[in-house]
Formats: sequence, structure tokens, C-alpha cells
Amino acid sequence: MSRVLYEKEQVCPICQTTFPKMMVRNSLCSVEKRDTDFRVQYRNCNPNWYVIVVCPGCGYAAPKSSFSAVGEKEREALKPVLAELGPVDLTGKRTLPQAVESFERAIKCSEVRQLSRSVMGGLYLKTAWLYREMGEASKEQQLLAKALEAYLKAYEHERDLSMSIEDLIYLIGELNRRLKRYEEAIIWFSKVIEMKDAKPSTTRLAREMWQLAREAYRRGPAEHSIEEVYSLQGADSEPEPQPAPAAEPVAVKPKRRAKVQVSTQLYVDQLDWLEKIGRWWAGEPNLDAGSCLRALLDLVSDLAPQSLQVNDEEELQQAFAEHIIAKTGGGGGVGS
Ligand SMILES: [Zn+2]
Repeated sequence: MSRVLYEKEQVCPICQTTFPKMMVRNSLCSVEKRDTDFRVQYRNCNPNWYVIVVCPGCGYAAPKSSFSAVGEKEREALKPVLAELGPVDLTGKRTLPQAVESFERAIKCSEVRQLSRSVMGGLYLKTAWLYREMGEASKEQQLLAKALEAYLKAYEHERDLSMSIEDLIYLIGELNRRLKRYEEAIIWFSKVIEMKDAKPSTTRLAREMWQLAREAYRRGPAEHSIEEVYSLQGADSEPEPQPAPAAEPVAVKPKRRAKVQVSTQLYVDQLDWLEKIGRWWAGEPNLDAGSCLRALLDLVSDLAPQSLQVNDEEELQQAFAEHIIAKTGGGGGVGS
């Protein structure tokens, strides 16, 4: 067994079987990526695969935190569920399908128990993450919808939440966004942004997702992924903006240049600004963000070579500013 995984003895509260449950040393896991619905991907381990404890004696399954505390009423309610599920051995190292099975069992067992809505929301959400890992988008969406329903009930009725209130509100927004309910998403993200004592990290995330939801809402019901909206699409992937008909016949044809699609990381406010220029605040979709960025690059592309001997982004901005002032006669403001 790797150093990341280790075993701990567990007694089943239903059938009293003693079995080894798998534990993960989180301190040895290194984070690779965080999804915007709080899923964390690790380089060397999958803690989410071991969240659920499954008894090999009777098949009873539950999250570690609520495995042992089973009341008398719950025990009765579980009997028909366990009779249907039957026992399964999910001790030891798990595969992704086994992790999914552990969650599917835990959902069936938990739905007849008296667990809080926020805990149920977490179960559905983490199951959705496993389907995302498997690439099963429709199952993922089904589980995200169930998580959203549970979190909405938790928001309305629960005082003792399993997470901070701003995280819950944010998640409701993000699940709406992932389910393409952009109007709803915008409302929930706004609630987080307006909270005065919310964690700065959650507020920042809410702002970013608010922007994405707004963009997606404006563009209509087409499919959007986060990556699509974050990256600036080259002209080859978007319809070429139609030039206005010229009043006079044009004698010289503009030089045709080859275009290459580049995926670049922009700050959300920068993309928003480019699009604002494109629409000029009037709702006229004249230019796309790519056209605006190309025009800006053209404007500064004839900078003198010595102007480009800069050390950082700030000095480059200064060089651009001086160039634009020289070129336009300094009439317009160049600052932010
Ligand atoms: Zn058992």
C-alpha cells in the first residue's frame, strides 16, 4: 500500500462486522487543479474515492462522518434497502467505478436516513464529480441537479450547515450556472458579492463566475464551457465581422494576413472591457473581442525596437501609452 493510503479498523453499526476502512493522508496529496464547484484534483491521490465507508458484511454505506451514528428508526428504514443492495467488498484500494458504486450505495442508504440536506447535497455533488472524472456528462448533470435541490432546501431550512453560508450561496449559484440556468446563477452570485463579511476568496470566485454567467446569458442558450469563455477565440472560430460597405470604390485591396488561433488567459474584466468596446455599450454586436484585441495590437505593433526594452508588464504599458499619445497627438486619455 502506498504511503498516502492506510487502513483503520471499523465496526459496522448494522451487522457488527469488523473490517478495514481505507484512509487517505491528505497532507501527502498535492493539489493539481480546483474546479469552480470546489472539486479539488490531486496529482498523486483521489481522496474523494474513499469518502464513503462500505461494510463488506451487509453492504451498508455512508460518508465517514455519519457512518456510525445510526438511530433505531434509521436502522429499520435501512433493512429493505440493504436487502436489495446485498453485501459487496469495497475495502482495499478502489478503482473509479468502485468509488462510484460506493457513492451510489451511500445515496440509497442516506435517502432513507435523517441526514441534513446540506450533507445530502455534498453526497450528490461528490458523486457528480466522479461522473465528471468518468466523462459521463449526463449523469453528472443529473447529480448536480439533485445537489442543487438539496442545497436550496438547506439554505431555506437549515441553521447548522456543513459549510459557511457564503460557500453555500456561491455553490447554489455555481450549480445553477453549470446547469445553464444563468439568470438564477447571476442572482445567487450577486448575493455573495453583496455580503460584507464573506471570505475574500469566495467573493472573488463569485465575481468571476458572475461574469461568466452574464456572458453566457447574453450569448443565449448555446453550450459554453468555462475554458471557452476564458480563452479569447481567434477569428477562425467565429464569424468574420462584415465590413461596412465602402462609399467609394476601394482602389487598393488590404493585405491579407494569415490568422492563427491563440488561446490566451485574460482577466475577466479585460475580456469584459474588450467586449464593451466591441458593442460600444449600445448592444450592437459590431466587433468581437478578438477584433478589438487585434486592433489594439496593430496600433502598437510599429513601436520602435528600443521602446520594447522593458522588464515587465507595467513598463510595456508605459511604452504603449507613450506611443499612443505620440500617434494620436495626446488628445485622448490613455489611462485605465
Ligand atoms: Zn454491516
